[in-house]
Amino acid sequence: MVDRVLVTLDGVVQDADAPLLFADDIGVLRGDGVFETVLVRGGSACALEFHLGRLRRSAQALELPEPELSRWREAVETAAKEWGTEDEGIMRLVLTRGRDSELSGARSSVKSGDLAAAVPVPTAYVLVMPVPERVAKARTEGVSVVTLPRGISIDLAQAAPWQLLGAKTLSYATNMAALRFAHRMGADDVIFTSTENRVLEGPRSTVVIARDKKLITPPAKNGVLPGVTQRALFAEAEKAGWTCSYELLFTADLLTCDSIWMLSSISLAARVNSLDGLRMSAPDNAQEIIDLVDRGIDRAGAIGDW
Ligand code: PLP
Repeated sequence: MVDRVLVTLDGVVQDADAPLLFADDIGVLRGDGVFETVLVRGGSACALEFHLGRLRRSAQALELPEPELSRWREAVETAAKEWGTEDEGIMRLVLTRGRDSELSGARSSVKSGDLAAAVPVPTAYVLVMPVPERVAKARTEGVSVVTLPRGISIDLAQAAPWQLLGAKTLSYATNMAALRFAHRMGADDVIFTSTENRVLEGPRSTVVIARDKKLITPPAKNGVLPGVTQRALFAEAEKAGWTCSYELLFTADLLTCDSIWMLSSISLAARVNSLDGLRMSAPDNAQEIIDLVDRGIDRAGAIGDW
């Protein structure tokens, strides 16, 4: 059984134990790049077209060259096949601006008028690894969550597009720091709140609340990443008679709803079982929501309008 698969965008299966990046890759030096995290299940990449749509959107936001989606599809398919059907895997699609030295070279080429040489080559690869152990527990038992301030207004995404709030960039250091902070408080996960006390998202998940037969998530324009799993859930839930909407949520809404869900491509549906130390018991329809997410990501179809 393989425990890691690495495929570069030229379709070549690489030795996953051999070095791949140059020390001056701007993805490493500055986190200047984008990525996707995709669940591999039964030997194929779940909701791939949704992920590719978001990869393209994120690349546009960073003014990276347009990703060649057909090549990404092929590399993903090769990687998923290499990984096999036995176990689930966590697949990362990584795209960086490339090497700093090539970019500097490109700048001087532009100055000298040699435009043909002025195309830096982005770094692009697909990496599959085992799903972390915490995931099985999150799916079955749920997660304990603390709310933490993100220190931003819900208006920031529109007022300051250079903050790249709706793009999935490689700059995740603050998200990881928030998770470590939560772990020190004895919690598994975080719900970020805005300066207006509105609900934003988790460091690696979308927040959805359920109330009666209604599912609600904050709109992307509030500065949250549009979630693939949330979209897949909404598509499936609407077919099953749920009302799904994008609405501003106050932190108080978290306390008055039937259940809170942290949705992400790898953990899928993790129910919040305690919020800021307050226990939240499972509602009768918890399994229905879990099943809707499961079916949703299997059926997620064509690239949407992100
Ligand atoms: N929000 C953030 C900040 C994330 O990093 C992620 C996933 O990594 C999500 C939401 C959930 O998105 P998805 O369902 O596409 O995995």
